[in-house]
Amino acid sequence: DRMKQAVSRTRESLSDRIESVIAMTREVDEAALEELEMTLIASDLGVHVAAEVVGQIRDRAKREQIRDGAELRDLLKSSLKKILDEHQKPPRTVATPPEVIVMVGVNGTGKTTTTGKLAAYYRRQGKTVLLCAADTFRAAAIEQLEVWGERTGVELIKSRQGGDPSAVLFDALQAAKARQTDVLIVDTAGRLHTKSGLMAELDKMRRTTQRFIPDAPHEVLLVLDATTGQNGLQQARLFTESAGVTGIVLTKLDGTAKGGIAIAIAREMGVPVRFAGIGEQVNDLLPFDSDAFVEALLG
Ligand code: GDP
Repeated sequence: DRMKQAVSRTRESLSDRIESVIAMTREVDEAALEELEMTLIASDLGVHVAAEVVGQIRDRAKREQIRDGAELRDLLKSSLKKILDEHQKPPRTVATPPEVIVMVGVNGTGKTTTTGKLAAYYRRQGKTVLLCAADTFRAAAIEQLEVWGERTGVELIKSRQGGDPSAVLFDALQAAKARQTDVLIVDTAGRLHTKSGLMAELDKMRRTTQRFIPDAPHEVLLVLDATTGQNGLQQARLFTESAGVTGIVLTKLDGTAKGGIAIAIAREMGVPVRFAGIGEQVNDLLPFDSDAFVEALLG
């Protein structure tokens, strides 16, 4: 399937090494467990998660013998799935449209592309969608979103470069409400060097949204680039601290052998991974499914 294909590089390195761990020792002894821990760290699960998972397997191995690679693989799968599922919950149901989804994240992570793909995703579900270009900082971001709007047949509410993001958002909310649009997706600026300015702006946008729709935004999706690995996690913390992030979109899973970062994120952020970006094309966005992901990695 598509997830399997996307994470094939992670799968190869992880599965191959696990095979060799087993082949090397013929049994799951302490040396094998340490080797496994290193393998998990190399796949970017992070030292904490790797130690936790291997700890569980070690406990199990004390109680009863782990016979072969297949059994080890199954134990590993259920440990990883448990971590991914810990914070999974269905998206909020929205009583009165529009559902407002705010996209946040650092430039270059794939935020604009993901915003476009997400518009296409909801269109495929038969929903009406409106895009809002609230990243007024970069002219290129507005133009790029315009291209996505045309590609997906979705209207874009925008202003000139340098405009007040909250003013554009105001227009978009007004339009979405008047038209009873199902989903309003808001692209925001992602410059990190003025962190406090950015956070103040996001906060102002939140207040603007709530003047129209008290329980909005319904989702604040943080876009993270899987290829930046543990550094991405560092960024994620900054945003979750102040932007009220409710879910993660993990992009470029197709371009990394370190897809294990998804598991580190789920554990450390305490918010669900909602979507996975698996390419540059319009359909290359999958709702994140922990079963499919773990199977794709280790199945
Ligand atoms: P932004 O600055 O965060 O808005 O990033 P962009 O949306 O401009 O994306 C930066 C680059 O990453 C572009 O070349 C995208 O085509 C590419 N990109 C985005 N998502 C994915 C993905 O899931 N997989 C791959 N391979 N490339 C992606």
